[in-house]
Amino acid sequence: MVGRTFCGQREVVTTPLPSGGAARKLNAVKPFRALLLDLDGTLYLDDQPLPGAVDAVAVLRGLGVPLRFTTNTTRFPRRILAERLRAMGFEVHAEEILTAPAAAATWLAEQGIRRVALYLAEASFEEFHAFTRDDQRPEAVVIGDLGSGWSYDALNRAFRWLLAGARMVAIQKNRYWRVAGDLMLDAGPFVAALEYATGTSAVVVGKPAPAFFEAAMRTLGVAASEIAVVGDDVETDVAGAVSAGCRGILVRTGKYRPGDERRGGRSPDAVLDSVADLSTLPWRR
Ligand SMILES: [Mg+2]
Repeated sequence: MVGRTFCGQREVVTTPLPSGGAARKLNAVKPFRALLLDLDGTLYLDDQPLPGAVDAVAVLRGLGVPLRFTTNTTRFPRRILAERLRAMGFEVHAEEILTAPAAAATWLAEQGIRRVALYLAEASFEEFHAFTRDDQRPEAVVIGDLGSGWSYDALNRAFRWLLAGARMVAIQKNRYWRVAGDLMLDAGPFVAALEYATGTSAVVVGKPAPAFFEAAMRTLGVAASEIAVVGDDVETDVAGAVSAGCRGILVRTGKYRPGDERRGGRSPDAVLDSVADLSTLPWRR
């Protein structure tokens, strides 16, 4: 099989690659036309770019590969995320970043919901400027990564609003994330607690919700089957992407743990040591 790689934009024989399970898997990846790149754990970790990540994005830019950046975080709005990425050396614009809070705001507006209670990092409140914050009778309780802001009282307030009929909107349901070398509880366990207590299910708007990936596809103008999604979370990035019809590429950085290739319910199309190896994937204009 002859394919085109990023490096050098030249025709190269992509098979057989010399060794390694990951290398053999790459041969099975069909050329893609656009990329969705996860941020935390994929491009950077603890505010430091991962080795080779800045150069990898620069190479993609140089070739004109359509790119979008995705994140479930509520710790920063898109404006700040773009500034942080640029400070790390990545060339990224705010409008290229697709965040779960922005997806939540879109969903709430589509439902005609006006009054919301926000269980998120305050930094992302600006994504909800079009809504009224209501701590008496909210129509929706929006739940994201509140971190150490969680308490019994906070959970109990949300529990009562939900029993009174408010919709439960989960920015994401990630089980855990990684910071400063340790795995930390993410929003998922708290969403699950409220689902269990109320006997209802949250509407999940971030990755791996199909609607999140479909919105990304619309902004890229490329068919799902021609988009490769790259991330360190085998469930939200890889399985979500594959379920939405995209290619799922797992990187062994960030929250990756040995054996993740076999978790998540959907096998990755490829496994890379890091985004620095993106240049080995076939791409076509
Ligand atoms: Mg990640």
